[in-house]
Amino acid sequence: MIVLVINAGSSSLKFQLYNMENEAVLAKGKVERIGMDSAILTYEPEGKQDIREVREILEHTTAIRRVLDMLAHPEFGVLKSVRDIQAVGHRVVHGGESFSSSVLVDDRVKQEIKRLFDLAPLHNPAHMLGIQAVETNMPGVPQAVVFDTAFHQTMPSAAYLYPIPMVLYKKHKIRRYGFHGTSHAYVSERAAAYLGRPIEELKLVTCHIGNGASCAAVLHGKSVDTSMGMTPLEGLMMGTRSGDIDPAIVPFAMSKEELTLSEVNSMLNKHSGLMAISGISSDMREVTQAMQDGDKNAALAFEMYEYRLRKCIGAYAAAMNGIDAIVFTAGVGENSAALRAAVCRNLTFLGLRLDEEANARRSQEDRMISTADSRVQVLVVPTNEELVIARDTYELILHSNPVQ
Ligand code: AMP
Repeated sequence: MIVLVINAGSSSLKFQLYNMENEAVLAKGKVERIGMDSAILTYEPEGKQDIREVREILEHTTAIRRVLDMLAHPEFGVLKSVRDIQAVGHRVVHGGESFSSSVLVDDRVKQEIKRLFDLAPLHNPAHMLGIQAVETNMPGVPQAVVFDTAFHQTMPSAAYLYPIPMVLYKKHKIRRYGFHGTSHAYVSERAAAYLGRPIEELKLVTCHIGNGASCAAVLHGKSVDTSMGMTPLEGLMMGTRSGDIDPAIVPFAMSKEELTLSEVNSMLNKHSGLMAISGISSDMREVTQAMQDGDKNAALAFEMYEYRLRKCIGAYAAAMNGIDAIVFTAGVGENSAALRAAVCRNLTFLGLRLDEEANARRSQEDRMISTADSRVQVLVVPTNEELVIARDTYELILHSNPVQ
């Protein structure tokens, strides 16, 4: 079965085409600057020349049409016909309390995603555009949706409620949802397989540390806590997001600096984190380089970032009454040996011993970076959210079409 995976943003659309017989990626790419006369399509077919084109793409429908044209192009394509695509899987950021697993798209599901626009105003409307664009271009092709929040729906109420008046939860569903669930679920399963132990026996802390960053406490295969909350702003310090701050700072800064709601929102989401403290970049590579070159602000940014992550791991050791393994994933988690070392060097009280040499080695494989006698294992597991979306979509289609 050929499955197209789509991650639609408000002005962008990423895609990967999978052959599910062997889970091979046939092609991938993205369309950026949708809505502009100079949109950019990047197309990377497996075994063929990459293509980059700049052209007017005003809507998601046109973006998908152009992607389909490429996939079935006589020269650059990887398919004979777009009719070879048997299903489409979409990433959807917010599934609220309605979805604890992936589902096939029908009218009820679309209504529910629309109802959740309030909770994810930047993301869910864009995902809906992606779903509608597929309906227009590929009528009758089944679609599935895979939610970032779904894995965390197992959190107990003590972890997901905020200590604020219950009316806000009852009326407006203000609670913690958590994000990056697809990644936390994937890397915890991979970690259990790597350790050769049933996931039902393990206490894991998974650290998805990329531009956005979150930790999850995964107890016996189920998420029991995670650092992001009602929105992806809560929790760890990130590239441009503040993570946890005293909420009283918001009205205080608004009054002192005469900020509007939208300005303060933008400050916390786009102008905080590594960027704000280092004054250099939101990219951990550049911050680390500047730190190594002696920049004090970069060193402070790195220290704060590491400190907040380490505190979260410690909190989850308390939440689960122990940890068997810590798993690092995503751009920073997979690539920054410096950050992993800084975190692990200060977790020796857990009986954790880092294998410095293994940590420094670069690899794209799942790997262990703790010593053989470490009481807590430390793993690096590259994440693959697109593959999970493709697998879930494939499984849903198989089960909805039992062989006659
Ligand atoms: P992601 O959101 O998972 O794509 O992660 C993106 C982030 O990973 C970038 O902003 C970088 O800060 C970080 N990153 C990628 N490669 C490295 C590296 N070699 N060392 C440190 N950070 C890295």
